[in-house]
Amino acid sequence: MKLQFLGAAKEVTGSCIVVKTRKNRFLLDCGQRQGEEKEISPEFTFNPREIDFVVLSHAHLDHSGLLPKLVAEGFDGRIYSTVATRDVTELLLKDSAKIQKESAESGVLPMFTEKDVARTIDKFSVSEWNVPVDASDDVTITFLDAGHIWVQAFQL
Ligand SMILES: [Zn+2]
Repeated sequence: MKLQFLGAAKEVTGSCIVVKTRKNRFLLDCGQRQGEEKEISPEFTFNPREIDFVVLSHAHLDHSGLLPKLVAEGFDGRIYSTVATRDVTELLLKDSAKIQKESAESGVLPMFTEKDVARTIDKFSVSEWNVPVDASDDVTITFLDAGHIWVQAFQL
């Protein structure tokens, strides 16, 4: 297994890790870099069409914020997460698309639209905590509570 860190290395924002196994190439998170000095719309250093699936650790935009851009640029696999992560991610990405649409009026091109967000949410494959899911024949995912985001606190 090979890991390539494309963000969140020596910083705490923009997590996007390419994982290569013998049979697959997948992403662990696809986050947006946040902060004034960061690029607003970064280019991927890989071809989104060559990513087999995504594992999303949690909903925060620095882990999920570029998923609609990934889909808009040709990613066509599944996005694995817990049910709560998908639901909160949908809210955050819709809000992000809305803000980008408003910013577009002042000349900043949006990275993605609400339509891209809807296509992204359709790609989620959700599971519960502690339930192993086979993402491929050589990758099994189990979501465990890491205590970073208390999903039970959200009432949707
Ligand atoms: Zn977080």
